[in-house]
Amino acid sequence: MKSAEPSLSLAQPHPEGVGILRRSGFALALAAVAYLLLAWAKLVPVNAIALTVTLSAIVIGVTVYAWDLYRNVPPGIKNNGVFTSSITNGGLWGWVAGIILTAFYVALYWFPETLGLGKDGSNTGIVALFDPLKRFFTGSNSTSQWFVYGTLYTVAIVSLGIKFMLKYRHNRYQLIRTSVVMVSQLFLAYLIPEILEGLTTGQAYFAKDIKNIWPLNYYFFYDWHLNGMLEGGALGRLFLIAGLVLFLIGTPILTYFLGKRWYCSWVCGCGGLAETAGDPYRQLSSKKVSAWKIERWMIHAVLVLVTIMTGATLYGYFSGQSEILGLSIYNYFQKPYGFLIGAAFSGVIGVGFYPVLGSRVWCRFGCPLAGYMGIIQRFKSRFRITTNGGQCISCGNCSTYCEMGIDVRAYAQKGQNIVRASCVGCGICAAVCPRGVLKLENGPEEGRINDNPISIGNDGIKLNGLS
Ligand code: SF4
Ligand code: SF4
Repeated sequence: MKSAEPSLSLAQPHPEGVGILRRSGFALALAAVAYLLLAWAKLVPVNAIALTVTLSAIVIGVTVYAWDLYRNVPPGIKNNGVFTSSITNGGLWGWVAGIILTAFYVALYWFPETLGLGKDGSNTGIVALFDPLKRFFTGSNSTSQWFVYGTLYTVAIVSLGIKFMLKYRHNRYQLIRTSVVMVSQLFLAYLIPEILEGLTTGQAYFAKDIKNIWPLNYYFFYDWHLNGMLEGGALGRLFLIAGLVLFLIGTPILTYFLGKRWYCSWVCGCGGLAETAGDPYRQLSSKKVSAWKIERWMIHAVLVLVTIMTGATLYGYFSGQSEILGLSIYNYFQKPYGFLIGAAFSGVIGVGFYPVLGSRVWCRFGCPLAGYMGIIQRFKSRFRITTNGGQCISCGNCSTYCEMGIDVRAYAQKGQNIVRASCVGCGICAAVCPRGVLKLENGPEEGRINDNPISIGNDGIKLNGLS
């Protein structure tokens, strides 16, 4: 509401009015989302024109909205209102959004027929809406709920990635990183696999899966996947070798030189969604020490689980047996892992709980690839965040907006390098620091871990044994 009298306050207590441009952008994107819901309910026509208009309206609507939102504000991060808005502070609307997202994921994984997936290719509802696009890529009507999800996922990363770039436009690292995130999702995760599927009709699934790194893609060593690659000629063998090299050599080397950020906050689709769609929720991640303890137990437990499950799978594959110690490998290893970790944790909780627990629940507590890279990053990497403790004013911005729940301020106050296993190198802590205290660096291993930093203040004197 506008004040009748201009305010003399430097803090400008009256909220700025929302102009026609922003309202139009919001209305356009909302109308497109409403059309998707109506298509789901089978209440509107589904065809190529409707799909093109709907997807374009989401991207254009979000872009117009974000451009109007940030164009007149000075450079710098704008998180105004995140703690007072119910949708971003874990309030009622946040819970409503979380329940709707969770319900969508439950339908996606376990009840795809409710989205319109027809047996024998006779799709209806929202799945049928995407049939023309699938036909365009592959020449067939093989649309599944996963194609719908992949398309919407990509549209979310691209449109909200544009919003993110407008918001962080003063920060070069964020602009480059987000461009790579958007390009990776659009080409590596979406367009190229779909085009490959069209070009390799008749080939097994592996032929469209180019971002295939075990243990994140836990089915890499499953019988059907291994057989598909082994029986897939030269292309199959290339994918098999590439997958092994990526896991055994590529991942450790890249993580040694760059930290896990090369994947987690630059390339990964899960990270891509967290960085763009999840940006308004990064402050919800718990910074408690208890959360850190749970995180370490959980992520390494999942890494152990996937290793045991894969070991059992490979034993079955090479021995030709379907049981190990009297236990069915499928029923006791693969099925529980796929249900609990592959579906419930990574999808339903990982994204459904964004508005309640923050945007990196899966990456922080569950992703086995993040766990694997985290061990390398912690003990054998050139990556660190250096801190200039003398400049820190203890404002806490860095800790507040760290999506991985790292209490960055505690390190900065002591001038201690941050070499935490969970840090995904998103750089937001550095971007929101008003004093330029934090710097993401790759450098010599020597002196990287400074466990005895120069402490500041009374506690520091005690810590250093000076009193
Ligand atoms: S410490 Fe900084 S770079 Fe690392 S995850 Fe947190 S905000 Fe991102
Ligand atoms: S944002 Fe910068 S000044 Fe504020 S607590 Fe963190 S390191 Fe210190």
